[in-house]
Amino acid sequence: MDKVIPYGRQYIDQEDIDAVVEVLRGDWLTQGPKVEEFERAVAEYCGARYAIAFNSGTSALHGAMYAAGVGPGDEVLTAPITFAASANAAVYLGARPRFVDIDISTYCIHIDKIEASISERTRAIVPVDYAGYPLDIETVNDIARRHGLVVIEDAAHALGARRATAGRPAAGQPLGSQADMTILSFHPVKHITTGEGGMVLTDQVEFYKKMMVFRTHGITKDPGSMQEDHGPWYYEMQDLGYNYRLTDIQSTLGRSQLKKLEGFVAQRNRLAERYNEALAGTSWIQTPPPAPAGSRHAYHLYPILVSPEMDRRKVFDYLRGKGIGVQVHYIPVHLHPYYRRCFGCRPGDFPVSEGFYAREISLPMFPGLSLADQDRVVETLINF
Ligand SMILES: *Cc1c(COP(=O)(O)O)cnc(C)c1O
Repeated sequence: MDKVIPYGRQYIDQEDIDAVVEVLRGDWLTQGPKVEEFERAVAEYCGARYAIAFNSGTSALHGAMYAAGVGPGDEVLTAPITFAASANAAVYLGARPRFVDIDISTYCIHIDKIEASISERTRAIVPVDYAGYPLDIETVNDIARRHGLVVIEDAAHALGARRATAGRPAAGQPLGSQADMTILSFHPVKHITTGEGGMVLTDQVEFYKKMMVFRTHGITKDPGSMQEDHGPWYYEMQDLGYNYRLTDIQSTLGRSQLKKLEGFVAQRNRLAERYNEALAGTSWIQTPPPAPAGSRHAYHLYPILVSPEMDRRKVFDYLRGKGIGVQVHYIPVHLHPYYRRCFGCRPGDFPVSEGFYAREISLPMFPGLSLADQDRVVETLINF
């Protein structure tokens, strides 16, 4: 059989390997200077004041929700078409995720449906830039401001996306400072990788301080914020936190990967354009919505929708049988047994998301995908 083409894959070069080998020979494997270097580099790239590295995108979401004050009895709004972590992080803190259906013109949370889902208990909104599409965060921010909510943008798919914002350069502005907090993931299928890893970006010092303490057991050594002082060894655990630290080894890899990000995103956009052109004449395939004018898509995924009359399962099995490692993103979170059991979610609750799930297939999309392999994907798909 032909070699299997995955739907996503990391791109690691000799420069990345050399950088990691060098840190292994040094004094610090964790809690050294590399974490801060990586944080500063990502903050600068994204135009955010603060960046807090975490050991996964999931722990970054947990930290952001903690900083937002999410707690027992609260509600957090997100879309069903996302990775489970977007909702799970609220559950970790005793809150209840409340889902808002997606907008079929963006595949992201339906912004006009947010307000109807806000209650007395709502604390935060977690919009997800699905596939790397920069959603309309300004309207989400306006809604949040009116209701006193915190906006945590789950940009795990969207590092490198740019968004047209009023009064900003024509090329658009990177994601990272437009929401109260913005979350990134450095899992190997994402834009840059640290193996496992994540980050929160924010301009607000209070959120930053809370997350710095939260990611290291709730412990502080800052003399200005401690209640007692027993001596030079003294530190205080002031709240319940976790060990959510990223290592120096991982941060070094991330710093090296970041240098290649612009090239990665450009290549993802080139591949998306090639897919768009090659599939334009195939009536049973719907290609994904392009980024709004003045914005740049980050194309973490290239999601196609097969027409409702088609059997998605047959298309999927056919492609997998031909060595094309397609995937489906995502099983709507509310349909997982845990969410049905613990939160009373049911099929039919979010019809647009469920209809989307029934039709979606993610085609291979990663910077190292050769044009020849991409052509093979297209030919196989059209031959079906
Ligand atoms: C990848 C991802 C995350 C975080 O995942 P980790 O694997 O913990 O880094 C969060 N939300 C979305 C939408 C994701 O795709």
